[in-house]
Amino acid sequence: MAKRDYYEVLGVAKGASADDIKKAYRKVAMQYHPDRNPGDKSAEEKFKEAAEAYEVLSDADKRSQYDRFGHAGVGGGARGGGGAGMNMDDIFSQFGDIFGDDIFGSFFGGGGGGRARSGGRGRGARGSNLRIKLKLTYEEMAKGASRTVKVKKYVGCGTCKGSGAKDKGSVQNCTTCNGSGQVRKVTNTFLGQMQTVTTCPSCNGEGSVVTGKCSACRGEGRTYADETVTLDIPAGVQEGMQLSLSGKGNAGERGGPNGDLIVLIEEEAHAQLQREGNNVVFDLHISFPDAVFGTSIEVPTIDGKAKIKIPAGTQAGKIFRLKGKGFPVVNSYERGDQLIHVNIWTPQHLTSEEKAMLEKMQSSDNFKPNPDKSEKSFFERVREMFS
Ligand SMILES: [Zn+2]
Ligand SMILES: [Zn+2]
Repeated sequence: MAKRDYYEVLGVAKGASADDIKKAYRKVAMQYHPDRNPGDKSAEEKFKEAAEAYEVLSDADKRSQYDRFGHAGVGGGARGGGGAGMNMDDIFSQFGDIFGDDIFGSFFGGGGGGRARSGGRGRGARGSNLRIKLKLTYEEMAKGASRTVKVKKYVGCGTCKGSGAKDKGSVQNCTTCNGSGQVRKVTNTFLGQMQTVTTCPSCNGEGSVVTGKCSACRGEGRTYADETVTLDIPAGVQEGMQLSLSGKGNAGERGGPNGDLIVLIEEEAHAQLQREGNNVVFDLHISFPDAVFGTSIEVPTIDGKAKIKIPAGTQAGKIFRLKGKGFPVVNSYERGDQLIHVNIWTPQHLTSEEKAMLEKMQSSDNFKPNPDKSEKSFFERVREMFS
């Protein structure tokens, strides 16, 4: 894409005054500001293009270079089209004054427009996130659980209501920034004079300072205390999942926003069952006669006991599937299955009488292995088990 003429980009005449260029840039930047065009790539490109044009035309030296030699004169040719050379952070840090309080601050409630400032004005720093681990049994993970836990954390100071001040008269407007929470700094760079907006160092962007501190929190606006939090755990959670409870973390300083409480789920091992994704695996051991004659047997599930039928002639390695007896899937009606893996117990100690009986059967044709060709192989069964 051919680079557009910078005057054309800003919609001004070649002889436009510095003031007109600034006004024109504001207008274009307002129109294509990313906060007003969320997710719109072409608006973002136009926004960058305008910033690049303004970068050159707002500087007397660069502008005269551009007037004489075009894009090549200001190194623009090497940057490729569409103002791709500047990223958003450059634009906001270099031309932050353009998006000052007068326009963007009021327009966007101080949210996105004033990117140059960090931390909200008039409020202290955000509280940090709090992480806790929560161990759950299979039953709790399957059904969901409500748990109340005690967490040690920063909570808003009840004495000063989070202000950090001992009384109303002890909060004063910051004199460094006049309560705006930010200061403008003029620096000389190779592009000319730049105004940047940074967080006020005297009040850390809060806009006010506490002159008489609350004695309960020593001016922090928060105290360290135990708090009981109720955690509602949805059915289907798994080991390693994280639940984030917005605003339940540490309180911020002097009324700053709370951090989040992040709950890391851990699994308590089950004595008999093994979780595999949303399925549950149970290793069943039956005796050789039961495998031959068939039987009815109780097996544990995450939902109490279940009775299953073992048909006569069941082979070792057979897998029975109890549909829907596995774990539920979070936010879904789907459920996993329980897989019952059959093992046949080989006796390890025999009386001489038992030995004699078995020896009699040893030569019998019915005891010779004769696997059915249609039986699934071990590998096929394993694959099926985890499908
Ligand atoms: Zn206090
Ligand atoms: Zn200040």
